[in-house]
Amino acid sequence: TVARLQPFSSTIFAEMTELAVRHAAVNLGQGFPDSDGPAAMLAVARQSIADGLNQYPPGRGMPMLRNAIAADRATRYGTSYDPADQVLVTVGATEAISASVLGLVEPGEEVVLIEPFYDSYAAAVALAGAVRRSVSLVSDGAGFTLDADALRAAITPNTRMIIVNSPHNPTGAVLSRDDLAAIAEVACEHDLLVLTDEVYEHLAFDDRSHISISTLPGMYERTIVVSSAAKSFSCTGWKIGWACGPADLIDGVRAAKQFLTFVGGGPFQPAVAYALEHEQAWVRGLRDELQIKRDRLSKALTDTGFDVKRSEGGYFVCADVTPLGVGDALAFCRELPDRIGVAAVPVSAFAEDFDKWNRLVRFTFCKKDETLDAGIERLTRLT
Ligand code: PMP
Ligand code: GLN
Repeated sequence: TVARLQPFSSTIFAEMTELAVRHAAVNLGQGFPDSDGPAAMLAVARQSIADGLNQYPPGRGMPMLRNAIAADRATRYGTSYDPADQVLVTVGATEAISASVLGLVEPGEEVVLIEPFYDSYAAAVALAGAVRRSVSLVSDGAGFTLDADALRAAITPNTRMIIVNSPHNPTGAVLSRDDLAAIAEVACEHDLLVLTDEVYEHLAFDDRSHISISTLPGMYERTIVVSSAAKSFSCTGWKIGWACGPADLIDGVRAAKQFLTFVGGGPFQPAVAYALEHEQAWVRGLRDELQIKRDRLSKALTDTGFDVKRSEGGYFVCADVTPLGVGDALAFCRELPDRIGVAAVPVSAFAEDFDKWNRLVRFTFCKKDETLDAGIERLTRLT
C-alpha cells in the first residue's frame, strides 16, 4: 500500500460488521436498512434487467435519471441544474465525493473537513494528494454545532474546498441556516469550493427542514451538491449517486469519474428515476418511521446509562460511554459484539483527534422494529 493510503487500509464499518457476523450480534454499527425500498421501484429495476438495459449506460447517466434529479432539486430547493451538463450520475455518493476532490483539488491544496467526518472524505483527500484540515464540531450540551470561528481559523491561502455534511454522519446534527450562512460567508470571502454531502437530505426530524447550502447567496456557482438514492430509498447496495453543480465544476468531477468507474448501475438508474418522481410520499413515511425509531433507541440507551446526544436527522444517534465507567469507546465497541451481542461504531473512527472523540459511540436506528427490539433487549445486559 502506498504511504498516503496506509492510514486507510481497513474501514471501521468492515471491522465492526465482521465482528457482528462472527458473534451473531445485532448490527447497530454499519448504517444500512434491513428492509427494502418502495416495491414499485424494485419492480422497475427487475423490469429494466428483463428489458435488456444491461450494457453501459451513457457516461453522464441515463437522461431519464438526470432529468429526474434536476426536477427533484428544482421542486424541493428551487435550484436549477441543466441535465445536459450540470448533473452527473455516479457510483454512489462515495464516487461523487472522491471524483470531486480528484477532479477539482490540486495536490497540496487544502480541504477543510468538519470533524467528526464521514470516513471517505479523508481518504478522498489522501487519494488526491491534497492536505486535510479539520475543524471540530462543538458540543452544545445535548448535541453538536458548528464553531464558525474555528472554521475561519482553519482557512489558509492554500485552502481550496470545504466539505459540508448535513444531516450529519455520525452525530445526527442538522446544520441551521445560521451555521450554513457562516460557512457560505467564509467560502465566498476566500473564493472556495464547497462540496455538500446531502445523502440524508430527506431525513431531517422534528419538522426541521434540510437546507442546501447551494441555495444561499453566492453559493450556487461554487457548490457541488452530492446525494444518493441509498438512504432516501433504502437501496444502499445499488450505489446510484449523483453530483450537481455548475458545468465547469461538473466537468472536473466527470473527468475523474470517467477513469474511476466510467459508468455504473445501468438497470438501477431507471428505477431511481422512477422513485424520485413517484415515491416522495414513501420517503416522508420513512423519515417519520425513523424519527420514532430514533426516539426508541435513544430512550433505551439513556435507560442503559449512556449520555445520549441529540440526533436531528439521518440514520444515527451518538452516546457518551463515560457514565458507564468506560474511558475508551473504541475498545468498548470491539468487545461489545461478544459481550452483549450488539455491534456499534466508535466515533473516533471519524476523527483526526482520536482522544477527543473516543468517548462517543454511534448507533444506527435504520432497522426493522424487531431488529431494534432485539438490540434494545440485549443492551439491558450492560446494566
Ligand atoms: N456520505 C455519507 C455522509 C454517508 O453516510 C454515506 C454512506 N452511508 C455516503 C456518503 C456514501 O453513500 P453511497 O452509499 O451512496 O456511496
Ligand atoms: N455510510 C454507512 C455508515 O456510515 C456505511 C457505508 C460503508 O460501509 N462504507 O455506516
